[in-house]
Amino acid sequence: MHHFLNNLNKQITSVFILSCLLIAPYSVQVTASSQEDLNYMQKRQQMVRLIEDDVKRTSVYLDKEALDPKVMQAMGAIPRHKFVPESMWDDAYQNNPLPIGHGQTISQPYIVAIMTDLLKLSEHDKVLEIGTGSGYQAAILAQLVNHVYSIEIIEPLGLRAAGLFKQLDYTNISTKIGDGYYGWGKHAPFDAIIVTAAASHIPQPLIQQLKPGGHMMIPVGSQFITQQLLLVTKAEDGHVTTRQILPVLFVPLTGDH
Ligand code: SAM
Repeated sequence: MHHFLNNLNKQITSVFILSCLLIAPYSVQVTASSQEDLNYMQKRQQMVRLIEDDVKRTSVYLDKEALDPKVMQAMGAIPRHKFVPESMWDDAYQNNPLPIGHGQTISQPYIVAIMTDLLKLSEHDKVLEIGTGSGYQAAILAQLVNHVYSIEIIEPLGLRAAGLFKQLDYTNISTKIGDGYYGWGKHAPFDAIIVTAAASHIPQPLIQQLKPGGHMMIPVGSQFITQQLLLVTKAEDGHVTTRQILPVLFVPLTGDH
């Protein structure tokens, strides 16, 4: 088992690790000249190819060789640089997590892509995200579904993301500051739920708020050691099953729960 994990880790560590770095808060600037936009578009296409390579390399875990083209289109369309501090705009299209302040990170693009893909979303869906962070994952979801509800526990991060959604004209994302462990009962049930911070267990309120037939992606495990990314499925009869996808390293789900 240990050997298996060692080998596994060697193959995937560089791909999956989400580092937790501390930096000072920053302000987001959303204006860019068209030449700049073009440069970023090219970088984004390179990022998409890196994700495609990583998906092929990890196909045995994902049970597929390629992700849904609509998910890849969204990855190629959303300006990730606008969701990170301006000092990091040039690094925004590397396939890496980046610090966003308050000890939190924007997830690695490959992780965002596979989590989004495994939710099996459709355009009429209503999705709940726990951990708004930079807002990038919510923006990707917003390209694919009818409405995204996103909860962030760190107020300045949640407010900054909400401001950015407004500036970038995302009209189908609703945000809230609070402990996402309890979900968002007022808008439940959800077709899909995505948790972007590592929980010690699958929160019961989120299972309750998931529609029969729906999927949830959630990293589960202890803080600072590798966690398991789980795909949770609620059958039409309410029966819940889980499938382990990959070892990952996320920042912890915090809060008093
Ligand atoms: N989805 C984010 C993005 O696209 O940038 C990345 C999320 S970051 C890896 C995890 C986020 O979860 C952090 O912003 C953190 O503050 C938030 N978080 C942690 N515990 C939470 C909780 N109980 N409720 C809501 N958000 C939480």
